[in-house]
Amino acid sequence: MIVTLLGVRGSRPVSRMDMLRYGGNTTSFKIEVQGVPPIYIDGGTGLYEEGVRLLSRGVPSKLCIFITHTHWDHMLSFPFFAPMYEEACEVSFYAPISRNQRFETLIKGQYNPRAFPVPYDQLKARQTFIDARPGDRFTIGRVTAACFQLNHPGTTIGWRMEADDQSVVVVTDNAPIEDNRLGEGMEEAYRADPEGFERKWTEGLIRFMADADLVIYDTHFTDESIKGKRHWGHSTPTMAIEHAKRARAKRLLLHHHAPEDTDEAVEHKAAEAWRLAKDTELDVQPASEGMTIWL
Ligand SMILES: [Zn+2]
Ligand SMILES: [Zn+2]
Repeated sequence: MIVTLLGVRGSRPVSRMDMLRYGGNTTSFKIEVQGVPPIYIDGGTGLYEEGVRLLSRGVPSKLCIFITHTHWDHMLSFPFFAPMYEEACEVSFYAPISRNQRFETLIKGQYNPRAFPVPYDQLKARQTFIDARPGDRFTIGRVTAACFQLNHPGTTIGWRMEADDQSVVVVTDNAPIEDNRLGEGMEEAYRADPEGFERKWTEGLIRFMADADLVIYDTHFTDESIKGKRHWGHSTPTMAIEHAKRARAKRLLLHHHAPEDTDEAVEHKAAEAWRLAKDTELDVQPASEGMTIWL
């Protein structure tokens, strides 16, 4: 399994000289497994260049795109993603239903003529839309994809991809749960079980991440910068490391860098993470755009 980080920035793309090392494109990942169509998670601006690269080698016959949620930073590339305009290409989307809206409705909304000049019906690729609910599992050849609901506004899904005894878990976007229940249905679940809900959710997330070879975790904030912003829906290295340690994950990438964070700020965040992880086996690194990990 090969995992490539196409975009690691959170909230909005950035373009500044002092942010080049970690990159300015928003969330998108590529997962390659031999004999299986290319798999992507999210279509932030990082996916754009990948579309150009794919077509330079010929039109791909099939792509599978898994969606965590439909905030713009995870969706911005789709109208510009070149394979969507190719008749010979089939694109399968696996996405959560959020606030009773299917992904199909939301992606078509990106082509509203007042927002984008190309109408949706000019997309030539065959598209299929598969609803993903927390707890679901999907199989694509040798790859299994599992879903877990994260603590983020609407319905946001973490994805666990497994193939040939290797696993990568993507936990983005995700916030501390304690007195901060942001996900759709979580407040109701808490009211039904006020003593147990937050503990059970955390234990569920740890099980979902268990023994992962690689965890890519939202660390938009630091312990300092999250103050007063827990309701924004993002985590810190402290939370990512605690969960990765409890899950006995092998490697952790700090992901979804805040758009105002310079390279120096990302390195400061990584140094804080290394201090927290220094007595563990866990390998911690800041995610950087273009990074490729062979599992
Ligand atoms: Zn995001
Ligand atoms: Zn989000």
